Amino acid sequence: MIFKNSKKRIVGAHISISGGLENAPERGKKLGLDAIQIFTKNQRQWISKKLEKEVIEAFKNNMKKYEIITVAHASYLINLAANEESLWLKSKASFLEEANRCAQLNIPYLIFHPGSHNGFGEKYAIDRIAKSINETLNKSEKTVLLLETTAGQGTNIGYTFDQLKNIILKVDDRERVGVCIDTCHIYAAGYDISNNYEKVIEEVEDTIGLNKLKVIHLNDSEKGLGSKIDRHAHIGKGMIGSKGFVKILNDERLENIPFILETPQGENEYYLDLQEIKKIIEVY
Ligand code: ZN
Ligand code: MN
Ligand code: MN
Repeated sequence: MIFKNSKKRIVGAHISISGGLENAPERGKKLGLDAIQIFTKNQRQWISKKLEKEVIEAFKNNMKKYEIITVAHASYLINLAANEESLWLKSKASFLEEANRCAQLNIPYLIFHPGSHNGFGEKYAIDRIAKSINETLNKSEKTVLLLETTAGQGTNIGYTFDQLKNIILKVDDRERVGVCIDTCHIYAAGYDISNNYEKVIEEVEDTIGLNKLKVIHLNDSEKGLGSKIDRHAHIGKGMIGSKGFVKILNDERLENIPFILETPQGENEYYLDLQEIKKIIEVY
């Protein structure tokens, strides 16, 4: 999107694939988006049927035709930190399948939640996740895996930048791993981007490095700073607030990074967020 003050920002949103994933780029364009995030399969199932050649071709053609950037989000079933062997094996198989689907579809990034330690501790989880990533990278090509920051609900890992850094340090092929920051999640985890943006961004730079930041999930947070509760709100309508999004939306260092909305009511209400983003960028 190009804004009145001639600032260019890549603004996108999570789009449903019901009715065929090949139609997602058109749906995104019609909503006025530059980028979309999709599940490449039914995210409630472990394994899906193979992608048909026609679907792959149609999807790639539509990405070009509608000039849309696509990123993918992995299924929430996957827990790469699982201790239980059968769950860990299922998670890895499903994750590998998703990485391969992205490669087939020319989708550069697969975003995933690092995992939950279920009482086995952070250190255990970090090792387990890194091992899973290494196996997945060895068995797949191209796709870059993006660890998403979490709110720290339950025993979820990934609510500090240090935890993500420690996972990345154990990955052999670091060219194929990066990070997706979710503004709602980091705020709920205790990073005050609303009042202390520069300090937070400095911490990103000092731990994982801004060069590893590839996608931003742009969501406001219904719950307060450090609440550890993951509840998305429309931009400007949550605890981060419009004032809180001014700096991140105007940060020149983030110019080429897609901002992906995952706000309530999805496609029916993204127009509210787009209006607010416009206002924030053009007014401040
Ligand atoms: Zn996510
Ligand atoms: Mn997210
Ligand atoms: Mn969330």
